[in-house]
Parts: sequence; C-alpha cells; structure tokens
Amino acid sequence: MTIGILGGGQLGYMLALAGYPLGLHFRFLDPSPEAPVGRIAQRVTADYTDQAALEKFASGLELVTYEFENVPVEAANFLAERVPVYPPPAALKAAQDRLAEKNLFRKLGVTTAEFAGVSNSAELDSALKTLGLPAVLKTSRMGYDGKGQWILRTTQDVAKAKSEMPRAEFILERFVPFTRELSVLAVRSRNGETAIYPLVENHHRSGILRLSIAPAPRLDPTIQHAAENVAHRVLESLKYVGVLAIEFFEHRGELLANELAPRVHNSGHWSIEGAVTSQFENHLRAVLGLPLGSTGLTGHCAMLNLIGDLPESAEVLAVPDAHLHLYGKSPRPGRKLGHVTLRAASPERLALRLSELPAFFHRPDFCLDAALAPSASLRA
Ligand code: AMP
Repeated sequence: MTIGILGGGQLGYMLALAGYPLGLHFRFLDPSPEAPVGRIAQRVTADYTDQAALEKFASGLELVTYEFENVPVEAANFLAERVPVYPPPAALKAAQDRLAEKNLFRKLGVTTAEFAGVSNSAELDSALKTLGLPAVLKTSRMGYDGKGQWILRTTQDVAKAKSEMPRAEFILERFVPFTRELSVLAVRSRNGETAIYPLVENHHRSGILRLSIAPAPRLDPTIQHAAENVAHRVLESLKYVGVLAIEFFEHRGELLANELAPRVHNSGHWSIEGAVTSQFENHLRAVLGLPLGSTGLTGHCAMLNLIGDLPESAEVLAVPDAHLHLYGKSPRPGRKLGHVTLRAASPERLALRLSELPAFFHRPDFCLDAALAPSASLRA
C-alpha cells in the first residue's frame, strides 16, 4: 500500500519513518531535488502546478496527504478527483488564509485576538482606529515562521509598515500580551474517531519555534478542557481527517486561538518518544481509517529545534533519555536541521536534564531559561 505525500521535508520524512513499521510505502512530490525524503522514499521532483507530474504521482496510490500547508489548493483538488486526499482540501484552503482562518474561529465561537481585514493603507488607518496600538499586521497568505509581519507599537512603526506593505491582503490583530504560547494536536480518523494530545508550551525566537515543553507545565485543567473543546469544534466543522495543530495564546487564564496547521506539526515532535502513539503514526492511522493510538504520555519532554547548525552528535547521545533526530539537510542559517527530545519522569527531572545539556544548548536562542525554573527546588 503506497501513500502519496505532498511536500518532502522533515515532516514527510518522519511520517514515512512512522509508516514503515506498519508496512506502508511512500511516494513524495516536492519541487526541490534536495528534499530530504529522497534518502528514504520514492520522490517525484516537480512543481505542484505540473498536472502531468501530479497525474503520474497519483497513479497507484492508496491516498494522498500533505506535510506542507502551502500546497496550492488546486493541486489538492486535482488529486482529489483521482484518489482520496486527507486532510480535506477545504481545511488546506482555510489554513492558507489568516483572515479566513480567524473568520472560521469566529464562526465557531472560538475566542481570538480582535482582528480586521485590511487591503491598503487607508483601511489600515481605519482598522487601527478600532483596534488601537499596539497591533500586529500580517499578510493574509503565505506568511510563516514570522515572515510578512509587522509589530506596530508607535505611529513610526505604522508609517514604516505602510512603506513596506506589498500589494496584498492583510489581517490586523490587536497585540496580545500573552503569558505564554500553547498548542494542541488533535486527530480525527476517517471513521470520525478523535483523540487529543495534552497541550504543549512553545517558545519562539524571531518567529521560529525553538523549544516545546510537553505537557505544558503548571497547566490548569480548565485550559486543557477549553483547548479540547476548540479542537472538537474545528475537527467536526471541517469533517477533518488527520492530525490538526491549533496554536493559542494563554492570556489572563483564557485561550485565544491564533493559528491552524492542517498537518503534523513541529510542536508535536516530542510525541515520538513522549506519547504512546506519535503524531506521525496517528496521522497515518487516521487517514487510513485504522483505530487511533493512545495519546497518553510516557514522560515529560522538552523538544529543542536544531536551527542553522548542529551540535556534536556524541555529546547529545551521551545525555540519558535524549533522542537526536537529524533530517539530512545541509546546514544553512535559519534552516531546521533536526531536533532533540529529552524525556524524564517528572518536570523537575526534566529541568535538571536540560540544565546538564552541553554548552551548545545554553545559547539564548534555545530558550532554556524558560524551561529551567522548576529545577530550582530539586537542586536546592
Ligand atoms: P503567527 O505567524 O501568527 O504564528 O505569529 C508568529 C508569532 O508572532 C507568534 O508565535 C507570536 O509570538 C507572535 N504574534 C502573532 N500574533 C500576535 C498577536 N496578535 N499578539 C502578540 N503576538 C503575536
């Protein structure tokens, strides 16, 4: 049984690694001849708009899924006429447009930061009159990892953003002085069965995820309950199939939904070692209509992204219950090259383990300070 995957980056790589023990085969389509999955699976190198290549790609596949959310919706629809495509292309469409995504949350009664659609500088002025400063201006489409965003604190920031705004659609959001960022991973199978992982605490630098702590420390159960409620509403409204990630801000004891990702997600990588069933395996089970696996925890985890450069493998592997994942990409500034997951029996043990990581990880961009606080009592 061969599964087709649109996008051949690390998410696809880890999907395939989770699928091989289940007896699955994989075929990827990615425009880049460097896509890391080339090392482990069949790869078609072609543009997502190349219909002849899509046709060839689809031939003999059981189903198609995707690991990259900027796949053109037309490509997903073209394939859906030939072979089942999960998650449904409608989910892809909603997630590709920040304004559509926030409108979906609003329609489902899910709280978000206040927002308004903006198409030009005059509309920006009028939206600012309602929302006020500080605010965040984001391009509605194709923004990711903090790209295409302007934080507006002063009138000078507004003038600068106006001078830089490309001709495009934007969303203006009220700036949320959040306590922390959280995400939830939820999964729904072809049969309608659902499962949800515990909320994860995420730390970003320059808009890129650096550290996830799972489960989120000091979490009020009402917050987990609220996240599950949001996830159920979104899964059902989209008749979703597969893993879905929802990112939130925690603010004044409440969750504000910020973003959807209709795919396996970087903030779920910890689940490979930290959950009974990883997000990758559960995504495959869901799209194949197999029973979902338990999302229960096997420990407390911290996942550190390796961005731009790599530590000495031996130094990481010397740390007990540390798990190194390298994606086979050549180093380049800002590029996600791999990740490390540390697992421990308690939050205190986890913090101690983190504090003992080699010097490479004690640079500010790993955000370790955020995770170290609970260790104070253990070491005292
Ligand atoms: P996004 O691309 O929407 O995930 O935004 C990237 C990062 O910018 C988020 O992870 C937040 O740290 C920050 N951010 C986005 N929107 C807001 C907002 N409305 N208020 C405060 N910070 C924000």
